[in-house]
Amino acid sequence: MNAPLPVDVLRQHLIDPEICIRCNTCEETCPVDAITHDSNNYVVDPDICNGCMACVPPCPTGSIDNWRLMVRSEAYSVQEQLGWEELPKEKSLPTPAVESDVLAPAADAALPASAPGVAATFTPAGASVPPWSAAHPYVNLYTHKTPMTANVVGNYRVTGADTESDIHHIVLDFGELPFPVLEGQSIGILPPGLDAQGRPHHARQYSLASPRDGERAGYNNLSLTVKRVTEDHGGAAAHGVCSNYLCDLAKNDTVQVIGPFGHTFLMPNHPRANLIMICTGTGSAPMRAMTERYRRRIDTGENGKLMLFFGARTERELPYFGPLMKLPRDFIDINLALSREAGQPKRYVQDLIRDRAEQVCALLADRNTCIYVCGLKGMEVGVLDALRDVTMQSGQDWSILHDVLRREGRLHFETY
Ligand code: FAD
Repeated sequence: MNAPLPVDVLRQHLIDPEICIRCNTCEETCPVDAITHDSNNYVVDPDICNGCMACVPPCPTGSIDNWRLMVRSEAYSVQEQLGWEELPKEKSLPTPAVESDVLAPAADAALPASAPGVAATFTPAGASVPPWSAAHPYVNLYTHKTPMTANVVGNYRVTGADTESDIHHIVLDFGELPFPVLEGQSIGILPPGLDAQGRPHHARQYSLASPRDGERAGYNNLSLTVKRVTEDHGGAAAHGVCSNYLCDLAKNDTVQVIGPFGHTFLMPNHPRANLIMICTGTGSAPMRAMTERYRRRIDTGENGKLMLFFGARTERELPYFGPLMKLPRDFIDINLALSREAGQPKRYVQDLIRDRAEQVCALLADRNTCIYVCGLKGMEVGVLDALRDVTMQSGQDWSILHDVLRREGRLHFETY
């Protein structure tokens, strides 16, 4: 007679604003568009999120993986979350909560899997696990609340001075403080100053361009490859806050750093692993880190094959062109795709993958091969199409191979 009324409980998905680095990966990954952002925060709409977890593995910081049991009618709204500086304390639920509702996603009824435009199961293009032999990555050692101060020990341009593409090689030293990193990881930079709302700028992410043992082996330092942003993605004039700050740094300046980030875009750690590296522009940073890791152990006999597909408009816009061309040909198989070189036909990385189909397929057939794609967002589709074409031509079923590559942590994308 006097049994308490059942309480409708929601497992609400939240993003920790203190750890999130606003990289947009979750918003791009979410198959039901439940994630949105303003200039302050990335947040999850409790009315749309169906708890599919697609956004969790790609998040480089783990800030996405927060869940609160909430009375559904008291769920935190998008507006509330946008104003947060930190996650609120956990609330205790009235008892008894309705058992069967506890794990129910917010919008399972509102968004049936068969609804138009809603994927029943979300399959990302790349793997959400690292290669089996990858070394253990450390993440989030330094956060927005506890950044570390690094010293600038080098900053120079690595693209031709006469080109529009101003890309810098920047070396940061961490002195006595530990900052363990792996090739393929990134760090966050906190640019000084305030945004248009008067809040501190959020961190920007940059891939490491140096291997785990430092830009200079044995030193506690690392390098970045930073492109000065002077126009937005649509080509209109824009002043990139962090890239301009970084490119203008002088030796002995200090920088606030957070991270490291990333636990999947990592290189295999076992002997004779082959790497296929496909990149454009500053997407070359992680490829430089991995190549340098191999170069430093060139005499050990442990290296597998390295195959690089590198795209830029012209040779002079290719970061690290000079040092790259000095590497021995039997150490790395270099394929340069130039799209605006005078007197030459336009070539893109996907064209060269097709040109080198036989060698690419031979490597793909070897379970010791991992593939890394980094650079402009738009390159993903072209690269996937080219990989599909070359494998189909060789009589293999791409959908099966693609699945294997993803499952075994052998195909990785980092595009921005
Ligand atoms: P903002 O002030 O944030 O933006 C200014 C304007 O430029 C905005 O309109 C914005 O939409 C547009 N814009 C933002 N980024 C770009 C861009 N890349 N090209 C053109 N327009 C842009 N960048 C590197 O240079 N090197 C790296 O190694 C690198 N690694 C990254 C790794 C990851 C995982 C991610 C997510 C991003 C990476 N980035 C890298 C991009 C970097 O984090 C910044 O987004 C970039 O430097 C622009 O920041 P900003 O503060 O200068 O521009």
